[in-house]
Amino acid sequence: MAIKTLTIDRDKCIGAASCVAVYPDVFEIDAEGKAVLKLKDGSSTSANTDITALDVSSVDDDTLMLAAQSCPTAAIILYDENGTQVYPI
Ligand code: SF4
Repeated sequence: MAIKTLTIDRDKCIGAASCVAVYPDVFEIDAEGKAVLKLKDGSSTSANTDITALDVSSVDDDTLMLAAQSCPTAAIILYDENGTQVYPI
């Protein structure tokens, strides 16, 4: 299973920052106290994002999955290359 894109559901995110603790290269907390994805172009977003746009040279699927599993509200949604949701399921 390879993760291709991911989204943060801002309505669900409570800013617990577990995701940041697990994978600080990918996640950070924005001014509204919600998680966002750190992008290569220096911006950040909670919208569905291809992993190649993330500000890391190579994304570790296992760590990404651990970050998603660490979220107490399951606000991090992972998809595979077919657009099929692989977490949470
Ligand atoms: S772990 Fe979940 S609730 Fe906490 S900041 Fe990350 S996405 Fe938001």
